[in-house]
Amino acid sequence: MVGGCCVCSDERGWAENPLVYCDGHGCNVAVHQACYGIVQVPTGPWFCRKCESQERAARVRCELCPHKDGALKRTDNGGWAHVVCALYIPEVQFANVLTMEPIVLQYVPHDRFKQGKIRDFGISGSSRPPPHGSFPVYPDPRLLGVR
Ligand SMILES: [Zn+2]
Ligand SMILES: [Zn+2]
Ligand SMILES: [Zn+2]
Repeated sequence: MVGGCCVCSDERGWAENPLVYCDGHGCNVAVHQACYGIVQVPTGPWFCRKCESQERAARVRCELCPHKDGALKRTDNGGWAHVVCALYIPEVQFANVLTMEPIVLQYVPHDRFKQGKIRDFGISGSSRPPPHGSFPVYPDPRLLGVR
């Protein structure tokens, strides 16, 4: 996948907030340092949390949307969720706002989980999920506080 950051979709990188590419085999994750909560960008290879975990790809899927590609993080219940999904849903929090992990799902109302696609919930005017691999761009106020 050619494109920008998995979280904010911007293709640009900055000296103080570079775009970092995952070196995992077959992984296309690219994220800004600040978008993924990377405290220190390594000089060598960098792996996203999913690749780092060595967990079998088939078992990794976002708890909040139907997609499994993209920039995922561990959740507090041992699962996975996209950073974008976590930012999108107001009840979802980051236990550590600096590292942006784990993603805390316990405040999400349970009836949203029953839908199986929490992220579609409440998007006005549309119940359609976004096309695969593309996420809507939206302001993420919580992100701006992370610096
Ligand atoms: Zn970004
Ligand atoms: Zn990866
Ligand atoms: Zn997701």
